[in-house]
Amino acid sequence: MRIPIIAGNWKMHKTAAESAAFVKELASALAPYANVERVVCPTFVALAGVADALRGTGVMVGAQNVSAAESGAYTSQIAVGMLEGLAEYVIIGHSEVRQYLGETDAMINAKAKLLLAHGLKPIIACGESLEINQAGGTDAHVRGQIVAAFEGIAAAALPKVVVAYEPIWAIGTGLNASPEFAQQVIGSVIRGTLTSLYNAEAAAQVRIQYGGSVKPGNMAEYMSQPDIDGALVGGASLAVADFTTLVSIAAEVKGA
Ligand code: PEP
Repeated sequence: MRIPIIAGNWKMHKTAAESAAFVKELASALAPYANVERVVCPTFVALAGVADALRGTGVMVGAQNVSAAESGAYTSQIAVGMLEGLAEYVIIGHSEVRQYLGETDAMINAKAKLLLAHGLKPIIACGESLEINQAGGTDAHVRGQIVAAFEGIAAAALPKVVVAYEPIWAIGTGLNASPEFAQQVIGSVIRGTLTSLYNAEAAAQVRIQYGGSVKPGNMAEYMSQPDIDGALVGGASLAVADFTTLVSIAAEVKGA
């Protein structure tokens, strides 16, 4: 069985002090759900304080990005080695980073390989724009993103890789993909592409999240889909009660 994974992407919210205080409360609330992987992804400046506050709680830390370069003269960037010991997961390929910071498929692939080489686990986000969706191009677009992201990644690394399918038109908009649509993209397109790139056994080990306006009210429908192993959550991860409810629903629906 794939272990469900719920990750909160805090984006540019919460100061370092607010983040550390928040996770102390969150960790107690999440303690009963140890069979679900629970991850919070604060801003870089909050990572150290959050990692300290969460040590020993079982709640994991993720970063929101990493440089594609291992080291060097890259003003403003964060090197993979700087995340070691602070984070277990790193989100790469988020549509906001692709859009505002010019992250390309080639950079995402380089980052994924770099993270795995350093013992960190990538959460590779993918998803189509509204225009692509309306033109019927979702499957081809997402397939292309997955093929590019996994180039040169060995099958043995797949249990350490998480994919997040996040249709761009559903992020922060309150519009969400229907659970059936999300299952089709996640099962047939993403897991199907991984099956053709590797094999069915390897593809079955990759955990795939849905992301896009996930809330306590719609979480159970997503978690009921066989290929959806968790959620990448923005807005609803910023409140202890909502995030805890999402994790509890994942635990219940997935029998974890
Ligand atoms: C996200 O930022 O990855 C996200 C899915 O945001 P929201 O849950 O707010 O749509």
